[in-house]
Amino acid sequence: MCRSPVSPPVHNSDQFTGESVDETTLYIVTSGGRRIPAHAKVLASASPVLESIIDSLQNRRSSGKTIPIVGVPCDAVEAFVSFLYSNRCNEEEMEKFGIHLLALAHVYMVPDLKTRCTKGLIQRLTIENVVDVLQLARLCDAPDLHLKCMKLISNRFKSVEETEGWKFLQNNDPYLELEILKFIDDVESRRKSTRKHLQEQSLYFQLSEAMDCLHHICTEGCTGVRPYDKQPISKNRAPCTRFSTCEGLQHSIYHFANCKKRVNGGCVRCKRMWQLFKLHSSICESPDSTCKVPLCRQFKTRGQHVKSKKEEARWELLVEKVVAAKAISSLSLPKIKVEQEEQPRSLREAINCHVSVAC
Ligand SMILES: [Zn+2]
Ligand SMILES: [Zn+2]
Ligand SMILES: [Zn+2]
Ligand SMILES: [Zn+2]
Repeated sequence: MCRSPVSPPVHNSDQFTGESVDETTLYIVTSGGRRIPAHAKVLASASPVLESIIDSLQNRRSSGKTIPIVGVPCDAVEAFVSFLYSNRCNEEEMEKFGIHLLALAHVYMVPDLKTRCTKGLIQRLTIENVVDVLQLARLCDAPDLHLKCMKLISNRFKSVEETEGWKFLQNNDPYLELEILKFIDDVESRRKSTRKHLQEQSLYFQLSEAMDCLHHICTEGCTGVRPYDKQPISKNRAPCTRFSTCEGLQHSIYHFANCKKRVNGGCVRCKRMWQLFKLHSSICESPDSTCKVPLCRQFKTRGQHVKSKKEEARWELLVEKVVAAKAISSLSLPKIKVEQEEQPRSLREAINCHVSVAC
């Protein structure tokens, strides 16, 4: 039999004026037989479940007023009762009895303790205990804790798979196992779509940059290519800040002007350049007669002559995204500069990815 190591809570006589000690004091009895004295009023006000138990005890007018709380260690029950009095629970108690306290908080409907345990158990989640804590979180309806467990399992699945907890779960709760595997799958596909989204974004930034360069090559001229009415750029002039894009574009323009096969002959490089001219004309805001970018006026007057509605929609979407990227990059110049210092994806690669969209 295990005896309470602490003295009974001090009775506050003011609170119980007019009531006999018998009516206000009862004992909580643990699995180990420990009797923890407590005030009915305190228990009742902290937990609606205990309140209704106390009510039924009072109605019965039984002599020995005891409430059994079994199935958890005596010290966990002690910590539980102490929380009902103080609304506090120390780290040592959390460390030792966090899972028991969560279960008690759930069963006896003590929301503050549940919140405290959720936080405490989240701090103490490990690869070793995560499967057990997950099962408990599920039983005790603790959604925050549940989600944290799922995320940890999903992020460290290779290690979790090796634990006893996981092996036990596999043999005993195939439904939960399935739920976890599905969660991991969902996380994976969310990650994939985020990655895809980021790649697409960088593509639109590349294209928007290409549009800027195309404009500046065709109006002022750059290192290798310039309008026929401009003087060669002096050697001292610093190259364009978007050097790799600009240079690639200049090579392509030069190729486009001199290629024998051309777009109609099936030249892929010409086709790409042609698409960039077309993209320029779709976003060009200068009046027809003043724009110096090749084919701009032709595209504008002839229309885009697309083959189908579906293609037209895709093209419009591309134009919209590039315009948006242009707007974003004009707002956040410092960030774009940083990105340029890293090796940018080649323009050719960027356009290649879009051949299917654009043509
Ligand atoms: Zn440029
Ligand atoms: Zn340049
Ligand atoms: Zn060509
Ligand atoms: Zn134009």
